[in-house]
Amino acid sequence: DSIRCPKTFPEERLEALKDTFERKFGVSPIFYVRAPGRVNLIGEHIDYCGYSVLPMAIEQSILAAVSVNSSGQIRLANTDAQYQDYMVSCSADIFIDRNNPKWHYYFLCGVKGVQEAFGITELAGMSCVVDGTIPPSSGLSSSSALVCCAGLVTLEANQKYMTKVAIAEICAKCELYIGTEGGGMDQSICFLAEAGTAKLIEFQPLRALDVKLPNGAVFVISNCCLEMNKAASSYFNIRVVECRIATKMLAKARGLDFSRFLKLAQVQTELKASLKEMLLLVEEMLHVEPYSREEICKVLGITMEQFSADLLSDNTQHLTQFKLHQRAKHVYGEAARVLHFKSVCDSEPADSIQLLGELMNQSHISCRDLYECSCPQLDQLVEICLKSGAVGSRLTGAGWGGCAVSMVPRERVEYFLQAVRDAYYLCDPLRAAMEKQSLFVSKPVGGAAVLLEH
Ligand code: ADP
Ligand code: MG
Repeated sequence: DSIRCPKTFPEERLEALKDTFERKFGVSPIFYVRAPGRVNLIGEHIDYCGYSVLPMAIEQSILAAVSVNSSGQIRLANTDAQYQDYMVSCSADIFIDRNNPKWHYYFLCGVKGVQEAFGITELAGMSCVVDGTIPPSSGLSSSSALVCCAGLVTLEANQKYMTKVAIAEICAKCELYIGTEGGGMDQSICFLAEAGTAKLIEFQPLRALDVKLPNGAVFVISNCCLEMNKAASSYFNIRVVECRIATKMLAKARGLDFSRFLKLAQVQTELKASLKEMLLLVEEMLHVEPYSREEICKVLGITMEQFSADLLSDNTQHLTQFKLHQRAKHVYGEAARVLHFKSVCDSEPADSIQLLGELMNQSHISCRDLYECSCPQLDQLVEICLKSGAVGSRLTGAGWGGCAVSMVPRERVEYFLQAVRDAYYLCDPLRAAMEKQSLFVSKPVGGAAVLLEH
C-alpha cells in the first residue's frame, strides 16, 4: 500500500490536467498527487474532543499536476477560474492569512507543514496546477484534501518520505494555520483510507481500523446547496471553544486540575468512566441555561483576561454565552453511537441496516437539537431522504449547510434518487442546475497517492 505508484492506465481527468499544465507552464508535469474528499458516516464534531469517528474516502478529489524546477519559486494555478494564480519565493517565510482564507493559503498550509517537519530552509521550486471535484464548503472536506494534496506534493518535490500516519499528523496540525481548530479526522482518512472499506479513525495514537459496511445498503450523498466556509466564519470554532470550556467545567466539578484538560475525552479517561456515566455527569454538573463569561470565570477562578487568552480563539473573542450542557451531551452521546455503529458492522446481526440507520438518525437529531449545527435546508433534505426510502440520514461534515449522507437499501436506490431529485432539486432552478454534482452514490476509495510519470 505504498503512497507512490506509477501512473499506468490512461484517465481522462489526468490527461486533461496534463494539457492544461502544458499550456500554462510550457513543460510537462513529472508527477501528480490525488487526495480524496471524505464522507463521515457517523461521529460529528467529536474528533477535536478526542473521540473516534467513522468516515470513508470518496471518489471526488483534489488532483495536482506538478513539475519541479530551479526557479526558486512555487507557482500555483487552478483549473477553476474562481481560484486565482499565485506565486511565492521558496526562500520567503510562508505567511498564511487566517483573516482572508484564499485557496492558496490552504495549499501553503501543507507546504509549511512539511517544510517545518523536515526543517527545509530552501524548498524546491515547483509549478503546480490544481483540479478539484469535491464541492467546496459542503462538508466533504475539500479543504483538507487540498492541504493533504499540498503536503504530499511538497514531500515528493523535495524528495522526502514518511509514513502515511506521520504525514496525516503533519497535515492535521498544519491545517490549523488557516484558523479552523479541526480535530484531524479529515487529514487522517485522506491518507489512511483504503478502497472498499470505511474506517474507524482513533486518535492518540492515530490509527485506522477497517469497518465493513453492510452489503445490502449503499450510501448516498446529497448536497443541500448551501455553502459554509469554515475558516471564513466562526461557527466551527465557537463549538470547539464551547467543548473546551465544558471540559474545564466538568474537570473542575470533579475536583481535577482543569488546566491539564483540553478535550472532553481526556476527562473521561481521567475519571475512568463510561460514556453513559459521562452523560450522567453532564446532567448533574452542567445546567441547561447558557453560561455567561462571568459565571465560568467565577467557577474556574480565573480572570476575564485569562478566559479570553486561554479559552477563546482569535475569531471567538466576541462570544458572551456558552451552551455547555448541550454541547457536551452531544459529544458523549455521539462518541457512544460511533462505537455502537462499529460493533454492529463487526457483528452483522440480521437487522444491521435498521440498527445503523437508527444510529444515523439519532446523530442527526443530536446535531440539530443539541449541537445546533444543522440548518433548515439540511433538515428539509434529511426529511426528504427519509421519506424517499433511506433507512438513516444525517448531515455530514461540520454542517450549517453542505451535505447529508443517507443509507439506502440497495434495491431502493433508483427509486430513492428519483424521489429526492423531484422533491429537493427539480423544484428549484438553482438546485436543479447543481443536481448532477449534488446527488450521488458513494463508494469507499483509497487514500492520497503520488502518481509518477514514467
Ligand atoms: P470543506 O467542508 O469542503 O472542507 P471548507 O470551508 O473547510 O470546506 O474549505 C473550503 C475552501 O477550500 C474553499 O473556500 C477553497 O479555498 C478551498 N478549496 C476547495 N476546493 C478547492 C479547489 N478545487 N481548488 C482550490 N481551492 C479549493
Ligand atoms: Mg474543511
